[in-house]
Amino acid sequence: MIKSPRGTSDVLPPESAKWIYLEGIVREVARRYNFDEIRLPTFEHSELFSRTVGETTDIVEKEMYTFKDKTGRDLTLRPEGTAGVARAFVEHGMASGPLPRKFYYLGSMFRYERPQAGRYREHRQFGVEIFGSPSPHSDVEVITLAMDIAEELGLTGTELYINSIGCPKCRGPYKEALIAYLTPHIDELCEDCRSRLTRNPLRALDCKSERCKALVAGAPSSLDYLCGECKEHWDRFREILTAVGIPYTVDKSLVRGLDYYTRTVFELKWPPLGPAGSTLCGGGRYDGLVEQLGGPPVAGVGFGMGLERMLLANEKGEKPIQAGGEIDVFIVCPKGGEGEDKGFEREARLQELARAFRRKGLRCDFDPLQRSMKAQMKQADRMNARFVVILGEDEFRSRSASVRSMRHGWQKTVPIEEVLATIEEAGQNG
Ligand code: ATP
Ligand code: MG
Repeated sequence: MIKSPRGTSDVLPPESAKWIYLEGIVREVARRYNFDEIRLPTFEHSELFSRTVGETTDIVEKEMYTFKDKTGRDLTLRPEGTAGVARAFVEHGMASGPLPRKFYYLGSMFRYERPQAGRYREHRQFGVEIFGSPSPHSDVEVITLAMDIAEELGLTGTELYINSIGCPKCRGPYKEALIAYLTPHIDELCEDCRSRLTRNPLRALDCKSERCKALVAGAPSSLDYLCGECKEHWDRFREILTAVGIPYTVDKSLVRGLDYYTRTVFELKWPPLGPAGSTLCGGGRYDGLVEQLGGPPVAGVGFGMGLERMLLANEKGEKPIQAGGEIDVFIVCPKGGEGEDKGFEREARLQELARAFRRKGLRCDFDPLQRSMKAQMKQADRMNARFVVILGEDEFRSRSASVRSMRHGWQKTVPIEEVLATIEEAGQNG
């Protein structure tokens, strides 16, 4: 038997209905905030990620699905969304159009990670990006957008963690301070952090190894090294959060696992999900990213939100999405006997009737295998049909059909032309 690859999953009905609902919510909240959808390739040139996410990050060093195509191009299944959006922004010259531009995306991301609850090798993300606004109002805007989605999904008690990691100007002295702090403890660092200590010491702050975590707890904070402009941005950002009544916690070791971030970084957590997967979404500023990809200097801010985690959280929260449910009409039409010319005429009316219901927007089904009356009534029950229409031999002889309300138990026989009207009249309550 061939199984789906490790770390991937099939979304089957009725679970898929939850996904449709969830995607509807994120699209709707994005619409309210005036973001438009951008749809991008699932694979990109590997260089896009190594240059922007960073050579020395976990994502690029360990987690990417990289392959050569038949002509030797070096390609990678996207591990995250922002790099691709920035690539498209530059490629289509959007910097010379009206700014700011606001995009959202929805799609699969691929990371070679150890699969566990809330962590997969293919997972789905919703993300938003604002290009062309260095204003801290935009940082707050993307954060409130994420919080509104969480709220729509019944997640109360989300926690916002924020930090500022400054710009390349303040990063230099900070990196030096961090290296100076970590070097005497080099033997206590994990192998990864040891090898990237001089190239990318910030990575140690994001390391998941317990020993590194303990060590960096006492490390210098980037907040103490912010340049004047970054400090001003950081202060204003927090003032706006406070003004709009959003509580936050400053987490000095929050750096995020991607190198393109500047200034603001944040995570929105929902503690009931447990330590390994409590981060619903992570994001921040990437003011140098567009320029790094060959565009003009254009500021940016956004986040990526893990949708599997949003669903897991929703199931544990106060407003779990109801999946599956019911159909509006099931038409029971058992096979005709010899005497009825095999019931061909009746069957033709069956198709006609089903289509009439469907064109009116009703969810309707019938048994194409034309099993017995009893078997079809069972099917109608299993599908949780609100109405059953019985197109039986006897009724059909007098050009009528029976309509039964499964909720209220009434049944009436009406001329075939009136079946649709009877159900519409009974309406949602029938
Ligand atoms: P983590 O620290 O949990 O590994 P990350 O920093 O790698 O997260 P991002 O790259 O910021 O995460 O991705 C944004 C969001 O996507 C995360 O907050 C999480 O909700 C989700 N996510 C990331 N990796 C996975 C995965 N392997 N499986 C499921 N969801 C994921
Ligand atoms: Mg990760």
